[in-house]
Amino acid sequence: MQVSRNRYFEDEVSKEKFNRFMLLRLISYAKDYKGTYILVIIMLIGTSILSLIPAAINTFIIDKVLPSEGIVPDNMLRNAIILLSIWFALSVGSVVSGYISSVVSLRLGNEIVCKLRKDLFDKLMELSFNYYDSRPVGKILVRVTNYTDELADFFVNDMVRVVQNVFIVLATFVCICVIEIRIAIVAVAVSIPLAIIMWILSKLLHDRNVRERNKYSNRTAFIVEDINGLEVINAFNREELNSEIFEELSDKYRKEFMKATRIRELFFPMAHGVVNGIGTIAIYMAALLIISHNWGEALTLGAVVMVATYMNVFSGAINTICQRLQTITNITSNVERIFEVIDTESEIVEANNAVELENVEGKITYEDVTFSYIKGTKVLENVNLTVEPGQMIALVGPTGAGKSTIVNLLSRFYDVDSGAIKIDGVDIRNISFSSLRKNVGVMMQDTFLFAGTIMDNIRFSRPDATDEECIEAAKTVHAHEFIMNKPEGYNTKISGQGMELSGGEKQLISFARLILSDPKIIILDEATSNIDTETEQLIQQMFTTVLKNRTSFVIAHRLSTIKNADRILYIDEKNILEDGSHEELEKVKGKYYKLLHNAG
Ligand code: ADP
Repeated sequence: MQVSRNRYFEDEVSKEKFNRFMLLRLISYAKDYKGTYILVIIMLIGTSILSLIPAAINTFIIDKVLPSEGIVPDNMLRNAIILLSIWFALSVGSVVSGYISSVVSLRLGNEIVCKLRKDLFDKLMELSFNYYDSRPVGKILVRVTNYTDELADFFVNDMVRVVQNVFIVLATFVCICVIEIRIAIVAVAVSIPLAIIMWILSKLLHDRNVRERNKYSNRTAFIVEDINGLEVINAFNREELNSEIFEELSDKYRKEFMKATRIRELFFPMAHGVVNGIGTIAIYMAALLIISHNWGEALTLGAVVMVATYMNVFSGAINTICQRLQTITNITSNVERIFEVIDTESEIVEANNAVELENVEGKITYEDVTFSYIKGTKVLENVNLTVEPGQMIALVGPTGAGKSTIVNLLSRFYDVDSGAIKIDGVDIRNISFSSLRKNVGVMMQDTFLFAGTIMDNIRFSRPDATDEECIEAAKTVHAHEFIMNKPEGYNTKISGQGMELSGGEKQLISFARLILSDPKIIILDEATSNIDTETEQLIQQMFTTVLKNRTSFVIAHRLSTIKNADRILYIDEKNILEDGSHEELEKVKGKYYKLLHNAG
């Protein structure tokens, strides 16, 4: 796959535009809560029906109960009291059912969004490194946080309110038809242009929202990058320049936000203006014309009041639908981006019949391995290598030659383009992820520590390890001494990334973390580069014991580490150019020899 290496100033392009299938898919997240949703909708519809009844009571009072031609009916007081009591009971009922349905839908909405966010997060954990190589972290972050949060309202309000109000529109329309078909026709005629306007606005708004989201995620990408690179920014005095870039990105976002807002805010006035304003006037005009011209059957006063009341409810419901459609349109661009992540196929997938490795010996073979990060640019070409169990292999060669790539392929961080890598004769593509990761332990130069105590960080590789086991691992890698010198020893708290520790201390903690997981194959990628010479000597002694029964790959610059290896591989020109022990390669007087002697 061609990787698009997107940056903070480049807008992302959606793979697929929002469509009704995406909407249905979004709604399908609510399917486990179908029963409760139906209940909520029934309650809301019940509330709506209840709210329609007072108008009928009104009509009844006007036409039948109120005295006509000055004669007060004997039963007026009794009827009025009964009707007013019903009215009161209905009002209380509608408040109670409205409250219950709101609370229930709020809970549902949040549960569903949690489910969606979990799917998104799980996918992010599963995606291969290539996905992360292709875009800045900030652009991924906004999808899991802001974009998903903004969907909550869809499940809490939009979905149920649209259903409820569509029902109200239909119900009031039927009522108006029953009472006065002539006025109903006017109501439909007024609604058609409104629907057309709304449709055009929703299209425009979607495009505007996509642009606004892009600028938003560009700005977030820049913020995340800046926080991560704060030290470099300070070191190179880039604060002012970066602040200007930030201002520019914020300004671009603000402009797109305003463009989207102008269209967004048209939705409601349009609905309100067309239906409530023009619509109501049109209906009264129609009623007046019918009455004044004596067209067809005469209108009673009660019917006019009732139609006007229903027309109000009708226009209120259309207003609500428009408002909800506006917020639904706002989230369509979020939905595109969220489903895009969920639908991304991980390039590294576990085989269906993946095996668990038992009693690993640690024999490793690379058979004709060719690999490229970006299509067309080979980093390794036809690499062949056999490593016997327990051997320690040092990889040397110029920067960018492919040393890390060779070892990264063994952990299946990336898959080979062609050829195969095998552990004890089993292709790593046929080994389960858990078994592969359990048996191949990696430690990189840029060690990552999590916020928590030193003990938490060591235990990270084996959550069930006891304190004693963690301390034992720390002792093995000679980290115990420095940890005990910290004010709170193993309980010393470290912030995210371990900013308060020296580079060497961080490496020792991650080394302990690695040793605790007890992998049969160990990869140390410049893992001891920050460790002082004294500790390095201790680690050299430890290598002989810890690495003794394990196959290991070490990428290091220190001659002491390299010399310790059983075999040294000189990597360059996309392949292994020299392979032998330190003494053997010294004798050959080839590239390795030159590297050592040029380096002094
Ligand atoms: P070494 O470890 O020998 O310094 P690497 O294996 O890290 O070299 O890199 C080999 C080549 O692959 C380099 O040209 C490097 O720029 C490129 N490379 C490494 N990682 C990536 C990546 N994630 N995406 C694209 N190219 C990469």
